[in-house]
This record gives sequence, structure tokens and C-alpha cells, in this order.
Amino acid sequence: MFNVSSAVPSLIILIMFLACYFSVPRIPILTNRLYIRILLIDLLTSVMNILSAEANRKFPAYNYYLTYALATAFLIMLIIRSYMFFAYSASLVNLNHYNSRIFAWIMRTPLMISILIIASSYRTGACFSIGKEGYVPGRFMYIVYVCTYFYVAVSILAVFIHRHNLSDKREFLSAISFNIILVIGDSIVLFDQTSLLIDSFCLMAIIIIYIAFENPDFYIEKRTGLFNQNALNDYIQEMRYKKQFLIFAFVIKNYQDIREIYGVSNMDHGIRLIGQHLKSTYPDITFFYIKEGRFISVAAADTDANRLCAELRARFDKPWHTKKTDLYLSIAFAKLTPETEIRSVDLSISSVISALNRASKAEDGLCAIVCENDIKDYIKEISVKKILELTVEENLVEVFLQPIVEAKNFRVIGAEALARIRDRDGKYVSPGDFIPIAEKNGCITTLGEQIFDKTCKFIKDNSLDSIGLSWINVNLSPMQFFVNDLASSYVEILKKNDLDFNIIHLEITEEAMISQSLLLKQMESMTDKGFQFVLDDYGTGYSNLARLQKCPFINIKIDMSLVWAYCKEPNLLLPSMISGFKSMGFTVTAEGIETKEMAEAMINLGCDYLQGNFFSRPLPMKDFTDAFAIFA
Ligand code: C2E
Ligand code: MG
Ligand code: MG
Repeated sequence: MFNVSSAVPSLIILIMFLACYFSVPRIPILTNRLYIRILLIDLLTSVMNILSAEANRKFPAYNYYLTYALATAFLIMLIIRSYMFFAYSASLVNLNHYNSRIFAWIMRTPLMISILIIASSYRTGACFSIGKEGYVPGRFMYIVYVCTYFYVAVSILAVFIHRHNLSDKREFLSAISFNIILVIGDSIVLFDQTSLLIDSFCLMAIIIIYIAFENPDFYIEKRTGLFNQNALNDYIQEMRYKKQFLIFAFVIKNYQDIREIYGVSNMDHGIRLIGQHLKSTYPDITFFYIKEGRFISVAAADTDANRLCAELRARFDKPWHTKKTDLYLSIAFAKLTPETEIRSVDLSISSVISALNRASKAEDGLCAIVCENDIKDYIKEISVKKILELTVEENLVEVFLQPIVEAKNFRVIGAEALARIRDRDGKYVSPGDFIPIAEKNGCITTLGEQIFDKTCKFIKDNSLDSIGLSWINVNLSPMQFFVNDLASSYVEILKKNDLDFNIIHLEITEEAMISQSLLLKQMESMTDKGFQFVLDDYGTGYSNLARLQKCPFINIKIDMSLVWAYCKEPNLLLPSMISGFKSMGFTVTAEGIETKEMAEAMINLGCDYLQGNFFSRPLPMKDFTDAFAIFA
């Protein structure tokens, strides 16, 4: 007699699971659609299993035809479920059998044959019959087992052979384990046909799939509730094989600054409101939120991007009402036209982001179309990433030195250490290209230590007096402040090279001042140990005088853009800035001095130190010592 005691709790859990699962947004991609089919088919199969077992238990009091129909329906659903699990495994490893019709039909053949045999059992008794005692297995009953084992075996094989299409070992193990759970479930039924435990095993497989692959949270940006970049990647990956489409994107201009002004929670609320507006106004277009105020959508190829631009611009002319304030935001647009070849998903998304950056700097308000340069930018970024990885791994970074002179007599008094790396052809890559990448991928910590170490070694190996230097400035990235043991690792390097703290000054840019509490904490712990700090690139970022006063800087370096602007057309800003700094007790360095006239202008404004190509470009360490030894 069939034992339904295990099937009922499984069914209840499955129903609860379905209710939760359908209450969250899901990304419309193949694996997700297949998973939903598995859930629905599993629900039907479990219901059929229980009903059919009950009908059989009460037979012959139960209607003969109904008992037959329920058993037939259950067995058919059982093998369809096996097939759906196989289809899911295949799509996980991109074995897109839907692309090859012949393969698809070959894989469906066992399913068709089994369904035919089961359905014909009413006349032939091939698979089962209903006798006096109820359900009686027929001569071809084994076809059901062969079919379920066949699909699960092919799934395991497909996952194994195409495991390179899974992103990591965890995904591979999960894909194998849910299939093994199915094998166990199938085997229990094979040995005990009265057991309904197979439904519990299928539920286990469903839960494993959920945990490893189908948790909607993988695809949703928590703070805003919109689909994230993972979702966009997978969505484009699938769409590119199906049909042509338009990628349309917009970005909130000056997102970081605006976030600072309005506050994080207001801004997040604003993004959520924008997301809701997009969903309700454009139900046919899927929008994704790609951090830092960027929204990217994938729309039908014939979508009118100009109309979208106009409508969105009109909406952004009005404020977004959050709980605490009204947000006034302006946006810039970019699109990748359907004709553009999608060489890779990463390449497409990155070139759209690059076009957005370009559009947000432009004043014309036009929608930037992804161009060859955006694609080249991304390809360059990838190649810099590779070079950087190798440079850090093999400690190949080179340190150049640029002199800093005393304003009163042009005597070299210090130098700035500037990092250089080389590409495969031996050509130098500019720090402007590789430092942001090193900051993004986290290797700036190791790279920074290597630069610091090489500078210390230079000081140890050369008598600084003989070159006329009193100190060397080393740049510190704001990202390095997020590393807790920054102070101790730098102290260690100094000790290793037997150096005094005051021989090295650390330059930090204004960006580091965004998180002032963290900056102050790190600076205090480092100044306690004896380090001295210089504020770099003043005038390009966020600091104000009140903030500055709190930080223990010894010197302020005026960014070259301010110096150049003043030398082109004198203004009141720079002189008052410099006199303000001096009255606060800071010494001042002017960067980017390219001519004698510029040097004189900065001396007249009261700068203490000057740096720029007029005195010398940054030089390799050896050239630097050769060039400046004579000044000693
Ligand atoms: P920075 O720290 O403001 O360095 C000064 C930059 O201005 C250097 O560019 C230097 O070559 C350039 N420069 C100096 N004088 C002149 C001039 O008269 N005219 C012009 N046009 N340029 C001049 P570089 O070496 O390309 O470095 C760019 C930026 O990369 C640096 O700006 C700094 O922010 C970063 N950087 C360089 N080395 C390191 C490093 O070791 N660590 C970190 N974290 N950042 C670094
Ligand atoms: Mg600097
Ligand atoms: Mg600078």
C-alpha cells in the first residue's frame, strides 16, 4: 500500500516555498524560466502522486477510470519532471540544446516514447494496469525508471564535461549534488514502489538549486530593489543569441558629489523612486542599476531612444520627493545600437559605461552612441589589468623621482616618488591609467608597499645629502587608508631600511578626505608613530578650510589646474587661498610649473616650494642621482 505520510509535508513546504519565491522580482532569463517550470511541474507531480496513491488505496470503492487517469497523469508528470531537471542542468552549463533542433529532439525522444507507452497502458497494460487490488505494474514499467535514470545520468555527464561554463567549484558541486539527490530519490522508488519519498528528494534538489543558483537576491541590488549587474550580464548573454536589441542607459551626473550633498539614505531612496518610475512607465523594458547612479536597460531593437531621452529628461526636470528632501538630479544618456556587434558581454557593458562617462562630461545633452573609442578604452583597461597583475606579482614596479625646489633659490630640496610600470613592449603605462585600476581591484595595497619599499631602499643606498634632498614625498592612495595595518606595515618597511620617519612625507589627495573620520583615525595613528603628511592636488576635490584645519598636514600642494588657470588669467581665488594656508601655518607647493614665468608668478604669491617640468620631468632613480648630484 502507498505511504503518503512523507509526501504531504513535502507538498506543504513546496507550496510555502512557491509563495515566497513568486513574491520577489525575478530576472527573465532561461535558467529562471526553467526553474519556474520545475517548481510548477513538481507541484503538479506531488499532487498527482498523493491523489493517485489515495485513489489506489480506496480502490475499488474509487472510480476505476479516475484511478487509471490519476496513475497515468502521475507517471507522465514524473518523467516530465526528470526531463525538466535535465533541461535545467543543461542550461546551467550553457549546453543550449534549444539552439540545435536535432539535439533537442534527440533528447526529447525518450520522453516521448515513455509518454506514449504510459498513455497506451489503458489498452495494452504495458506500463501498468488496474486489477482487482488496484495498481499492478506492467511488463514495461521499467521504461519509467530507465527514462528518469537516463535524464539524470546525462545531466551529471553534461555538468561534468562542461563544468568550465560554471563560475566556480561551489557551483559545480551544487550542480552535481542536486542531480545525485535525484538519483537517490529515483533509486528509492525503484526498490520500494510504495514509497512516495521521491517528492521529498525532488524538493531537496529544488532547494539546493535555489541556494546555489536561483536565489533572486543574487540578481537584486539590496539598497534599491532593482536588478543588478549580475542580472544584466546574464540577460545580455542570453539575448545576444536570440535577437537584436538596443542597450539604452542613463547616469545621474556628478553622482558622488550629489550623494555627498543629499546624504546616502536620501540618495538611495531617490534611486528606489527612479527604479519604481521606470518599472511603471516602461513595463516592456527591463532596467538594471549598475552602481554610482547608472541605469542600463535592454529594450527591443526598434525602441525610439530619442523619445526615451526626451521623456526621462522631462521627468528629471522635476524633483524626486524622498521622505526628507526633494532631490534635483540631472542625467546624461548613452546607447549601444542594435547594429553594434556584441563581441562579449563585459565589453558591451563597459563600453556603455565609458560612453556614459563621456556623455556626463559633455555639455550638449545629446545621447552618446557607443563608439570604437569606448570599446578601445575597455580593451586597454583589460590589458593594463594584466600588466598590473604581473608587475605586482613579480615586484616590477619602477619608481621615478621628480625634484621639488625651494621657491626662494630654485635649490632642489625634495622629490616626489612617482610609480611607473611597463607594458609587454617595454613602453611605460601612465599612473593615471593603472592607479585607478589598482585601486579598483585592491592590489594598490601591495603596489603601494612595493613603491614605498623601493623609495626607502633608494634613500638607504644613496646619501640624500649628496643629492641635496631633505625628504622624498611618496603618494598614498585613499584606498590604502581602508587597510587597518597600514601604519604597522609602513613602520616595518622603514625599520627594515634603517630610516628615520621624517625623511619620507606621505602625499594624500583630497579624495581621501571624503571619509574624514577614518582619515583622521589613520592619520593620527601614523603621525603618532612619526609620519608626516602632505595634501596633494588641492583644488580638485572636497576639502574645505575647516576640514583641513583638523588634519595634521605639513604642506599643501596646489593642483596644477589651479596654477595653470591663474597663470593664464590671474584671479583673486589663488592668492587668497595661498595666504589663507600660510596664515594657518601650512607651507605651500605649486605643482605643474612649466615655464620661468609660471615659477615667478607662484613665487610672487608666496609659494614655498615649486614642482614641475620646468625644473625636471620625473626621472628614473639612476638618472635622478646623476642629474642632481652636481647640485650638492
Ligand atoms: P600627482 O601625485 O599629483 O603627481 C604629479 C603628476 O604631475 C605626475 O604625473 C607628474 O609627472 C606630473 N607633472 C609634474 N610636473 C608637471 C608639469 O610641469 N606639467 C605636466 N603636464 N605634468 C606635470 P604622473 O607621474 O603621471 O602621476 C599622475 C598621478 O598618479 C599622480 O599625481 C598621483 O596621483 C598618481 N601616482 C603616481 N605615482 C603614484 C604612486 O606611487 N602611488 C599612488 N597612490 N599614486 C601615484
Ligand atoms: Mg602626488
Ligand atoms: Mg599632485
